[in-house]
Amino acid sequence: MAATTRLISRLAVVTGGGSGIGRAVCQRLASEGATVVVADLNEDSANQTLRILTHDLKGQDHMAAAVDVSSKESVEKLVTSIQCRYFQPPSVCVNAAGITQDDFLLKMEEADFDKVIRVNLKGSFLFTQAVSKALVACGAPKGSIITVGSIVGKVGNIGQANYSASKAGVEGLTRTAAKELSRFGIRCNCVLPGFISTPMTDKVPEKVISKITSMVPLGRMGDPAEVADVCAFLASDDSRYITGVSIEVTGGLFIG
Ligand code: NAP
Repeated sequence: MAATTRLISRLAVVTGGGSGIGRAVCQRLASEGATVVVADLNEDSANQTLRILTHDLKGQDHMAAAVDVSSKESVEKLVTSIQCRYFQPPSVCVNAAGITQDDFLLKMEEADFDKVIRVNLKGSFLFTQAVSKALVACGAPKGSIITVGSIVGKVGNIGQANYSASKAGVEGLTRTAAKELSRFGIRCNCVLPGFISTPMTDKVPEKVISKITSMVPLGRMGDPAEVADVCAFLASDDSRYITGVSIEVTGGLFIG
């Protein structure tokens, strides 16, 4: 249960909103009063999220939309359609869409490397650029762009050369965007989850999960809502003096 209504009258877009962390972020932002655009590759899952959002706070008018974050055309089409419907661009943007295509470095196909970079890194770039262009063009006083990276971008992970490179990339992208966009009132930050129970980690073998869990000081996998809590903080004015940072949500995994 959200403690505040600090996001009332904010318009937010969440990519990857049809599943896992993105869905939890949509729920949390809506519960704090934001109007949420649930954006996902899979329109059905975006609609499933839409159906579970809180609608009872002032002026909330959520929508679901299909988007492929790796396509500039698709991203620009969505941002334009949001502006047509709400007469403003979203002032909160959460880049949560992401994929894995794991294999050992010695075996990894070039296509699998490219695919993960295209969705996780280029997708975050395209969305950040499209939303911030729209905010700057309309003279919006403030914006908050949050990108879901991963602790793996800092420490690496066996079998995830493509994924860890993409997640290290979004931190560099975010720090640069923070420097360039702060003069327009737009803050850019990353959230770095550790191991969170979602459909993405459902693919990881049980043996590996119990090994990881044994390394987590807090002794368990994280819940998507625990990542969403931090996204809501970064979306809100409670974090108004924070930009260009990465906040780890890992239960203490890889401290230091
Ligand atoms: P998830 O449940 O698989 O959700 C990812 C969502 O992104 C899915 O709905 C997926 O749609 C969507 N998506 C994939 N490609 C897309 C594209 N091209 N355009 C738009 N949407 C697309 O995974 P999750 O665990 O919640 O992950 C969310 C984010 O957290 C990702 O960026 C992930 O890298 C990051 N993360 C997760 C963990 C973890 O432990 N779970 C840890 C660190 C970071 P489809 O289902 O249709 O593919």
